[in-house]
Amino acid sequence: MSGNMESEVGISSNSQLRVAMIIEKSRVNGPGWRTVVWVQGCTLACDGCWNQHMWPHSGGELWDVEELSKKLLSIDDVEGVTFSGGDPLQQPRALKPLLKLLRDGGRTIFLYTGYEEVELNQRQKECLELCDIAVVGRYLENQRSLDLKWRGSENQRIIFPTGKYSEEDIGEDIQEYEVHIGEDGGYTITGFPDLDEVRNMLGHPREDDSDIMNI
Ligand code: SF4
Repeated sequence: MSGNMESEVGISSNSQLRVAMIIEKSRVNGPGWRTVVWVQGCTLACDGCWNQHMWPHSGGELWDVEELSKKLLSIDDVEGVTFSGGDPLQQPRALKPLLKLLRDGGRTIFLYTGYEEVELNQRQKECLELCDIAVVGRYLENQRSLDLKWRGSENQRIIFPTGKYSEEDIGEDIQEYEVHIGEDGGYTITGFPDLDEVRNMLGHPREDDSDIMNI
């Protein structure tokens, strides 16, 4: 897979980021309380991807980078912002200035990408360099493990580009997830759950997951 996805997916805006959803506070997407931004759009098509509704680069909502940074920096009592998706590195023109604004505002950055470092183009590398922690590599269903912290498959690696955090900050490799219950009664599950366990906990029939969103 070429690292130069920008031309392939036609992403050129440096002032707007296409966002699928935002959770203001989570404890299972990196160290401490974090705001989580799921970007919209990914062409990597990992087999078994949980977020296939975030693959199209046409969905979600376009956010002006400055407006988005203001919104994210207005959320109190969080250590940082985690970017997931979709693949954040498929929108590097908008992502880079957003990461800078968030860092300037005192937030740490955690980023998930399906790319390996060797696949990245220059602009994507510059984004990665602004991250304190990143999980890199495709999600591989045949290497899925429920014993990993912050990642879904054994091949995915945790790296520390800025040196602000280290292996010690990962702590124990244990499965963590959260269930957020929406005003409409739907469930949003984030983290790395055993879905059967979650269905049992919620008393939810296996045949109908339409009100469960797993991200
Ligand atoms: S990189 Fe992430 S969002 Fe993209 S297909 Fe793979 S698991 Fe899904």
